[in-house]
Amino acid sequence: MGLYYRRKIYDTDGTDAAFVRAVSKNVIYHQKRCPEYAALLGRQGFCASELKNIDDLYKLPPIPTLFLKNRTLYSVPEKRLLLRSATSGTGGKASHVGLDLPTVLRGAGMVLGGFMAHRLISLRRTGYIVLGYEPAPRNNMGAVKSAYAATLAAPAYRRVYALRDAGTSYELNMAGLKSALIRYAKVGVPVRFIGFPAYFLFLLKELEADGLRFRLHPKSRILLGGGWKQFFSEQVDKQSLYALSEKLIGLGGGRFKEFFGVVEHPVIYLDCPNHHFHVPAYARIIIRDTDMRPVALGVPGILNLITPIMTAMPHVSILTDDLAVLRPGSECGCGIKSPYFEILGRAGVADIKTCAAGAAELLSVTEAKK
Ligand SMILES: [Zn+2]
Repeated sequence: MGLYYRRKIYDTDGTDAAFVRAVSKNVIYHQKRCPEYAALLGRQGFCASELKNIDDLYKLPPIPTLFLKNRTLYSVPEKRLLLRSATSGTGGKASHVGLDLPTVLRGAGMVLGGFMAHRLISLRRTGYIVLGYEPAPRNNMGAVKSAYAATLAAPAYRRVYALRDAGTSYELNMAGLKSALIRYAKVGVPVRFIGFPAYFLFLLKELEADGLRFRLHPKSRILLGGGWKQFFSEQVDKQSLYALSEKLIGLGGGRFKEFFGVVEHPVIYLDCPNHHFHVPAYARIIIRDTDMRPVALGVPGILNLITPIMTAMPHVSILTDDLAVLRPGSECGCGIKSPYFEILGRAGVADIKTCAAGAAELLSVTEAKK
């Protein structure tokens, strides 16, 4: 639990040894309980005893998220799962993830520590604008759950959702958001916008079109997650989004906080004042080339996320389909010493397939032979 319940959440140097021990223990745990995972590691000739120090972490074969969209691996019976999530699965298959009690307890420490370190816990009543779906029993998307969880960091004056639950479907609720903003500004409560960057931009454009301008409470925050990937087609960079927000609601770049996370790797990354995602004590990041070799700091490659947080699923090391670069913490200038990563875009499926050849394809090939 020491990795997750700590004040200095970015002390990666001081936690390297504990992290490697925790990963090694976690790998052995999953090998014993998940035969498919044990087979995957075995086929790559990996043995947990190879993990002696932090420089050995790259030897642990990562599981590609692409592989997990076709197969769900559990290390505990499904009845032990307390929380379930799925990726949005837009344009493809979804990954399913379940968390059991030990994972939820670790996650609670991680969320609390992260929110405290980033000063997101507040006792002021706050008006929420959730730029996403209203939670509903039929909706199992991870993003919906994390957005709701983020509304617990400050007591709610009111929660208003961009996509309102209408029983069997969702309806766009722009009018509701606008009247909530008018009310929040009038009452003078701090406002928190939570959701996808693309939705936030959409809302700002609506305000602009309607000639609406606000001076929201100066302690208001804009908490964005779920990626800027949607933005690549919109051609909007962060700086112009900050400028538009400053103009229309009085909240500039300093009030933005961005979250990064992937459902398969339930770690929350929060950006620093310079909008960089530094690596926290409970995760490590390796950037790999298409031959799966780790690359040096500053060299772009495929993002590999590692955490021993999960006990229900063997997602210790996950290979995403994001292209990213890892840079030394000192290059940021915010004072956090741990390295930070930048997402550069999406890797092509062909690249990922090359990368994943060692894991996913090996598995399916062997299975076909059976
Ligand atoms: Zn920083």
